Amino acid sequence: MTDLFRELIAPNGHKYIQPLGLFINNEFLESSDNGSFDAYNPADESIIAPVYAASEDDINTAVNAARKAFKDSSWSDLSPTARGNLMLKLSQLIEENAQTLATIETWNNGKPYSVSLQEDVPATAAVIKYYAGYADKIHGQVLGTGPAKHAYTIREPIGVYGQIIPWNYPLQMAGWKLGPALACGNTVILKAAEQTPLSILYMASLIKAAGFPPGVINIVNGHGPIAGAALAKHMGVDKIAFTGSTNTGKEIMKYASLNMKNITLETGGKSPLLVFDDAELDQAVKWAHGGAMWNNGQICTATSRIMVQEGIYDEFLEAFKARVEKMKVGDPFSEGVFQGPQVSKAQYDRVLSYIDIGTSEGATVLTGGEAIKTVNEGRGYFIAPTVFTNVSSTMRIYREEIFGPVAIVVKFRNEEDALQMANDSVYGLGAALFTRDLTRAHRVARKLEAGMVWINSSQDCDDQVPFGGVKQSGIGTELGESGLAAYCIVKAVHLNMSNRL
Ligand code: ADP
Repeated sequence: MTDLFRELIAPNGHKYIQPLGLFINNEFLESSDNGSFDAYNPADESIIAPVYAASEDDINTAVNAARKAFKDSSWSDLSPTARGNLMLKLSQLIEENAQTLATIETWNNGKPYSVSLQEDVPATAAVIKYYAGYADKIHGQVLGTGPAKHAYTIREPIGVYGQIIPWNYPLQMAGWKLGPALACGNTVILKAAEQTPLSILYMASLIKAAGFPPGVINIVNGHGPIAGAALAKHMGVDKIAFTGSTNTGKEIMKYASLNMKNITLETGGKSPLLVFDDAELDQAVKWAHGGAMWNNGQICTATSRIMVQEGIYDEFLEAFKARVEKMKVGDPFSEGVFQGPQVSKAQYDRVLSYIDIGTSEGATVLTGGEAIKTVNEGRGYFIAPTVFTNVSSTMRIYREEIFGPVAIVVKFRNEEDALQMANDSVYGLGAALFTRDLTRAHRVARKLEAGMVWINSSQDCDDQVPFGGVKQSGIGTELGESGLAAYCIVKAVHLNMSNRL
């Protein structure tokens, strides 16, 4: 079907060698059935390159490689410090290859190049570095059970990990999942999303260069229902970590039950952002805009349900509209672009269909509401950032995740009202609130049904701070110390030190 490597020249003139195979046992391989799919540039709809797609057989091969590597002394007997050093080397190589990685990320995903270069790539290197520091600081405990016995715990790796990631932050999601898994000594099969197979394959070549033993990190592309499902069902996989849609998350839970896999899920959201009358208006407008529109609106934690108290509503709306309209939508390699195309034709159609649904449900389009056809001679999946008002809580645009540059702004009367509206959702990922009243801020934070609350910000994220959702937004957390805990098991040891029976 294709070559295993291809020299490519990106739209910004950057020339590099793109791997196209399945990365198993530190080698790039063809798929067993020669299956492949094309990677696209969403900014002009052109094909970048075909990549190999893993079959069920290929998933078996990758799991066998990871299982063998888990037991192999080159990994299992490696000192924790040496393990951390391999991770530090990978982090360093990511930094050294930042321009290539950022170029691929923008070319294949559509996010602005400045964002890929200044945020996505450094954040990927940083999270691997953060967890590298943990590798030799993972301790058990000695437990005070009295003189008759010595009891202690050991924290051990769980084994072979299946990791299934989405397309909105391809490199960062890989980093979030690889970091804690490797720090604990697990081995990994990571499946990237069909829409964005390329940057992760380039990162795979750095894994080999960093010196990881063969089979420790395997990276495959493939179709969700084939390769993803095979991984989630596989009896040789001990844990599955997934980020993606809530519906797929539910499927993965079913597959994981086959051998009672340990599981972490980060799924959908419809996160609220509350602006109280006493908020600092300027700040609230800026964060509300970014919170809904960063990453072309493709953020699982997007605070796209903006709720504003009646006393400040008109002023907020005017400033918010002005800010949305000021931001440049265009080719992601162009200077000064805030918003690029949606990642794929399917996502573009989906977002536009939600705009139609909102209009037909009777909501008012405050700004946007249509595709943009003035970039790249009408090609590419560009959508004008869209804001709806006159939205009621029964409308689909109030309740369902849109995953694009579409926000709704609604009005609330008081705190009780705001909380009722904010919590009226099957999701519980993020929630943001703006107020200058310190007590109210903490009171409301406690009552919001969400895994993460931002006071006077939105989407603020740190490697040290847990990230995860409640309700139908997920199970478990990533990042921070609690993210690490999800990748180790605690084994208890009882040593009898007496003559008792
Ligand atoms: P989206 O709808 O945003 O593309 P998905 O949840 O479908 O989100 O995709 C997220 C990840 O899950 C991707 O890597 C995709 O290939 C994978 N995936 C999709 N369907 C399945 C499935 N049935 N089993 C396992 N993985 C899947």
